[in-house]
Amino acid sequence: MDYQAIVDEALSAAETYRGHGDVASHIPALATVNPKKLGLALVLRDGTTYCAGDADEAFSIQSISTVFTLSLALQHVGGALWNHVGREASGSPLNSLVQLESDKGKPRNPFMNAGAMVVCDQLIGSDDAETAMQELLDFLRERAGEDGIMVDERVAMSESKAGALNRSLAHYVSSFGNLRNPVDEVVSVYFRQCSIAMSCRQLATAALYLACDGTDCRTGTPVLGPERTRRILALMLTCGHYDNSGDFAFRIGLPGKSGSGGGILAVIPGVGAACVWSPGLNAARTSLAGAVALERLVQRTGWSVFV
Ligand code: GLN
Repeated sequence: MDYQAIVDEALSAAETYRGHGDVASHIPALATVNPKKLGLALVLRDGTTYCAGDADEAFSIQSISTVFTLSLALQHVGGALWNHVGREASGSPLNSLVQLESDKGKPRNPFMNAGAMVVCDQLIGSDDAETAMQELLDFLRERAGEDGIMVDERVAMSESKAGALNRSLAHYVSSFGNLRNPVDEVVSVYFRQCSIAMSCRQLATAALYLACDGTDCRTGTPVLGPERTRRILALMLTCGHYDNSGDFAFRIGLPGKSGSGGGILAVIPGVGAACVWSPGLNAARTSLAGAVALERLVQRTGWSVFV
């Protein structure tokens, strides 16, 4: 297959939607991003990479970070993680408080904000916020093969300043005894992981282990293990886009994770990973043009997991 032509075509298909949707404004630093940005990277398991548009420009990865924190937290605590967070689609917006009351402080899944904070808490464990962040950054740098991956401190500060609702979620979870660390420590890791800046190429490269049964695709070195990898992919498929997860599975049919910075990471099991970025979001905070590009990519390659 001429993958470069397919990636170019996927980007052209999304062109009509470039700049459409709403750039995340609940975090003021994200609101200043140019809504016209559009990039796509496809990285195959042997590392061959095909890019189009703004695929090398770093953006705020936001909730895509949880895919990686979840991988690390599972390494730390294994199946005990599921005592603290569920595995069920929420059908609710990312920052919903409502279900937390009936669910007694146990978030439905690791990909909604409250669940992501529980994952951060488990990653911190008996260490501290600084150690957990360093572990996450080291992991991303090693997986992406790029030492320069950093937290965008301006976004982190803005996220913290505008973080009343996320803090409320963490306090609420904590009130049920479901956080072992102080709320301030947990939200500090959460805000900083969301504020990591990476490009489409870096994110797709970093996620390759998820396409190769949890091993480094090129060296075969174990990263996560096949069983945990399968479970992360199942959660990405069912919960990776909040109350938009069903629609994403229907249209694209790949395990994916969207972030409110406009990125969407998609894993093509056995084949590789793709990442698209376009800051304009739909009502459920999934990139509008980004989903169109992935839809075309899958139509042209037949890569839906349901084929
Ligand atoms: N911290 C971000 C927020 O609260 C992350 C959400 C996301 O990327 N979906 O909006």
